Amino acid sequence: MGRAATATINFDALRHNYRLAKQASGNRKAVAIIKADAYGHGAVIVAKALSAEADAFGVACIEEAIELRQEGIKNPILLLEGFFTKDELETISNLNLWTAIHSLEQINILANSALKKHINVWLKMDTGMHRLGIEPELYELAFHKLKALRQVNEVVLMSHFSSADDILCVDTKKQIHVFERATKNINAPKSLANSAGTLGHESSHKDWQRPGIMLYGATPFATPHPIADQLQSVMTLSSEVIAIHHLKKGDGVGYSKTYICDQNTKVGTVAMGYADGYPRHAKNGTPVIVNGQRTKILGRVSMDMLAVDLTHIQGAAVGNTVVLWGPDLPASEVAPYCDTIPYTLFTGVTRRVHKEYKNILNRDVNAFRKAG
Ligand SMILES: *Cc1c(COP(=O)(O)O)cnc(C)c1O
Repeated sequence: MGRAATATINFDALRHNYRLAKQASGNRKAVAIIKADAYGHGAVIVAKALSAEADAFGVACIEEAIELRQEGIKNPILLLEGFFTKDELETISNLNLWTAIHSLEQINILANSALKKHINVWLKMDTGMHRLGIEPELYELAFHKLKALRQVNEVVLMSHFSSADDILCVDTKKQIHVFERATKNINAPKSLANSAGTLGHESSHKDWQRPGIMLYGATPFATPHPIADQLQSVMTLSSEVIAIHHLKKGDGVGYSKTYICDQNTKVGTVAMGYADGYPRHAKNGTPVIVNGQRTKILGRVSMDMLAVDLTHIQGAAVGNTVVLWGPDLPASEVAPYCDTIPYTLFTGVTRRVHKEYKNILNRDVNAFRKAG
């Protein structure tokens, strides 16, 4: 009923991808990354679907973690950016969260806090990305400082890659080398791999991996890859043809007429626009699937609609299903037409788009009835 713009989330695919992350890393433990509302898939429901098997969950900030705890998620939850203000420490301790620590200032704040329960900390090293983390030269000192605090329980050593999606780039090897050199005298669990590390860099497999984008079925790589190509798309973004126009050669389509028909063209109007999260800068020719057949978008994406070429589509009619991305049209194939990556496509889907959930196991739902 109503407007058809829908994101269908398939939890069988999600679980398949999580298991693939475990398999690809020789069954290392995994922090399933569900920050940013599980990359637009719905953090609470994704957490519920993975709760029986995820070793931990990773989020960007305490608000995201609080929501999960309120919904009954009992798995460990790691704050990937740590705390921003000192008043968060009380909540971190009360909700039994794990926090990253990426600066000496944060260690001092923790040292001066009156926490009653010990917390688990992931101490981040800047091995070359230069975004967050303690310099390698200061790292061992920082570790011992942390370990000596009564507020601290376990410490995990971590770093993050800048270029692991480029399999051949030497920076990943360099970062691993910097990390290993700076931690060689420290006996503690370690964590390096994001999705690209898990899939493409065996030497990044440590005690913990941190898969994100791969859980949602998108390959981090620009080229085919034997394991990444086994990932299954979790989200299908779809809508419907709501009008059809028969245009003549020379007619223009949409705002500013950025597409001019080079022949008589059957044009379909689809209820999907940039206010749904479909990028406005998707180029003429971006692939879509209409009525099960591949075709392309024509002209500019507007706020609530876009146009597609139906000239060669068999059975083209108002009401046809249009798939913008999904199992037969990976977001990683669409993204380059929009000068972006699947991450922004997924996280960009807006609340106007209906969410539908497939293959939620009863087991998950029952587990939460009990927990609730
Ligand atoms: C987001 C994030 C990840 C996951 O990265 P993907 O490329 O999505 O696998 C892992 N680690 C940290 C610290 C992150 O911020």
